[in-house]
Amino acid sequence: MTANPTRVLVLNSGSSSVKYQLLDMADGARLAVGLVERIGEETSRLAHTPLATGGAKRETEAPIADHEAALRAVARELAEDGLGLDSPELAAIGHRVVHGGLKFTEPTVITEEVVAEIERLVPVAPLHNPANITGIRTAQGLRPDLPQVAVFDTAFHTTMPESAARYAIDVETADAHRIRRYGFHGTSHAYVSRETAKLLGKDPSEVNVIVLHLGNGASASAVRGGRCVDTSMGLTPLEGLVMGTRSGDIDPAVILHLSRNAGMSTDEIDSLLNKKSGLIGLCGDNDMREIRRRIDAGDERAALAFDIYVHRLKKYIGAYYAVLGKVDAIAFTAGVGENAAPVREAAVAGLAELGLAVDADLNAVRGDEPRLISPASARVAVAVVPTDEELEIATQTYALVSA
Ligand code: AMP
Repeated sequence: MTANPTRVLVLNSGSSSVKYQLLDMADGARLAVGLVERIGEETSRLAHTPLATGGAKRETEAPIADHEAALRAVARELAEDGLGLDSPELAAIGHRVVHGGLKFTEPTVITEEVVAEIERLVPVAPLHNPANITGIRTAQGLRPDLPQVAVFDTAFHTTMPESAARYAIDVETADAHRIRRYGFHGTSHAYVSRETAKLLGKDPSEVNVIVLHLGNGASASAVRGGRCVDTSMGLTPLEGLVMGTRSGDIDPAVILHLSRNAGMSTDEIDSLLNKKSGLIGLCGDNDMREIRRRIDAGDERAALAFDIYVHRLKKYIGAYYAVLGKVDAIAFTAGVGENAAPVREAAVAGLAELGLAVDADLNAVRGDEPRLISPASARVAVAVVPTDEELEIATQTYALVSA
């Protein structure tokens, strides 16, 4: 019916969840968004918002056994609004794949070899890649005729020089186990660095940007002329900034100490560093809104957690300033970066010598559009640039299949 299908379904499959968006790349419109949670449990939940029809959010709670059942449920919801997966207007399905190793530097049309390589990377992404593969297999089962594209979280970071990507450990051991710094949130860093250049009225090749993706997971990147030259996450998303529940940088000897002297198992240490550290480990809360509320009420533990979070952030701004030599802009993005004015203010406080400052009034403005929060006179632009990983995945997917 349709000569040139323009719709892309974006799937982000986690171990027990599937997030999805249906976009029309003719105009970038979002037609439907939704989330299936607690797959495999009795209390699975599906929330679907049919934006195309302007309909209200529909929520259902009923057991959903596995990813296939989840995608079938999503397909039923979409069909209800005339947007079914069988539509000839669907051009492709774009999958967020967390770990692409060194091999995948670009979005890639999924073949059996591609799935096999994603599978080979499971040892370095044990939580994420298996779920991504399940999502791919399920989508292939539902629409075997449709191109499926993998968009990798690591791809944007594959331009990092060896000096930034290698850990200073024995090279043979590192290579035998694929140990190196891969970086994550690449889709967001790519999108936000490009949008920041646009905000400055320049081509990405003309600007150096430090991107601070501060969500529940958090990472920083140094982007020179549109190419990533360093990023704070490493072999796994555990390295770098203080996050909602992850420690970020830590002396590796802490792990040895916990193992030898606290009798903790590898799994217990894994859980400590990934789930019970960061803001939640420091003060019992990982939501910046709640932390700010506690600080305003005089809570010292929350204040210390905030200070530790900001101190680390500032260290990375300084480090990436030095890596880049010249910085045109710092861009804040994701849940905390887009919404928490006090974090942005504290992160650049005292850095006037580096040309960095925020204007209190501009910083207080809320909005969905990219915006500058630095004074007009500032040497370095400070920006708030909302991220849109789904749009970026859809854009990359569509570019590949419509080429
Ligand atoms: P993300 O992972 O990008 O969805 O970010 C989620 C985090 O953003 C939450 O855990 C909160 O810490 C933070 N966040 C969301 N909204 C706000 C807000 N209005 N003010 C401060 N922090 C926020």
